[in-house]
Amino acid sequence: MANAIADILKQAQSDNRIDENDALTLLNVRGAKLHSIFAAADAVRQTRVGDSVSYVINRNINFTNICIGSCGFCAFHARKDDPDAYFLPVDEIVKRVVEARQTGATEVGIFSGLHPDVDGNTYVEILEAVKNAVPDIHIHAYSPAEVAYGAEKLGISYVDMLKMLKKAGLDSMPGTAAEILVDDVRKKLCPQKIDTKTWTEIIVNAHRVGIPTTCTIMYGHIESYEDVVNHLRLLRTIQDETGGFTEFVPLSFIHYNTPIYRAGIARPGATGREDLLIYAVGRLYLDNIPNIQVSWVKLGTKFAQIALICGANDLGGTLIDENITRTAGGTFGQSLAPNDFVRIITDLGRTPRVRDTLYRTQSY
Ligand code: SF4
Repeated sequence: MANAIADILKQAQSDNRIDENDALTLLNVRGAKLHSIFAAADAVRQTRVGDSVSYVINRNINFTNICIGSCGFCAFHARKDDPDAYFLPVDEIVKRVVEARQTGATEVGIFSGLHPDVDGNTYVEILEAVKNAVPDIHIHAYSPAEVAYGAEKLGISYVDMLKMLKKAGLDSMPGTAAEILVDDVRKKLCPQKIDTKTWTEIIVNAHRVGIPTTCTIMYGHIESYEDVVNHLRLLRTIQDETGGFTEFVPLSFIHYNTPIYRAGIARPGATGREDLLIYAVGRLYLDNIPNIQVSWVKLGTKFAQIALICGANDLGGTLIDENITRTAGGTFGQSLAPNDFVRIITDLGRTPRVRDTLYRTQSY
């Protein structure tokens, strides 16, 4: 086993692709042998993207928590008549974007529940209003699930929906709604949500019409390591075809308030070993995705810092108003100041770098 691990790590560092069996072997490693995996991932990170650690000044706007969906891992959604249900008018969304720009944000993230009264035209209206008010803000919006929903409500194709959104000002999309891209898992986790084929179709077409996306994995619930590997294989295959993924963002499952955890179906999130391994294996296996982002919202700043020496090179965004993790029981806050990022990064001996959504360096 020790030799097998050493061979896999040597192969990954020599620019020869490791395969799915190799990734699975690494995900099963325990004990002190983990150090060699983290060190190899850190070395590959250094070779591919250097020593800087990037982050973006951004704000998230979840304009409604009302959703027709019932994903078992989600504590964010509400029904229309729930006391905490909300639906922000377009004017309020624009007001929040203006505030974000005034405080230095270069990006706004706009994503929400699947509101029964919303369709693709609503998504277009929001984009146009935001771009009209703040033309130079980068709009990172609408998951593949929202794109599918918007298109289906209008009775148009996903490609036409994507083109409409791009024309209205959509600059990039989150590759969320991916969770685990294995339908047997999705049937238990989020049976009403788009399936793997639809997610893939929307992402590939987004890339083809010129909308870059992130890619994500949500892990630590009901999935097996084989499912994780199948998910990673799909991401690597898509990236080979389109080159449209800007970064890989592992999202550790926050279990506390979620239906699947309360029903005893899901485990209580990933372990620390699993958290660090997903960054390391992501770095070693996804040789065609340059950036690996740590979610400080999920991991907290202390553990996020350690993930930066296990293959990751980006700390995501300052995220004024983060809501989705908080409602699931996350306790690491709704925003971080740039100084907090600088402290974590320089403490590791690395160089902070403020970036835009597409990883171009910004001054702040
Ligand atoms: S994850 Fe999204 S689609 Fe699923 S229930 Fe929550 S808000 Fe709705």
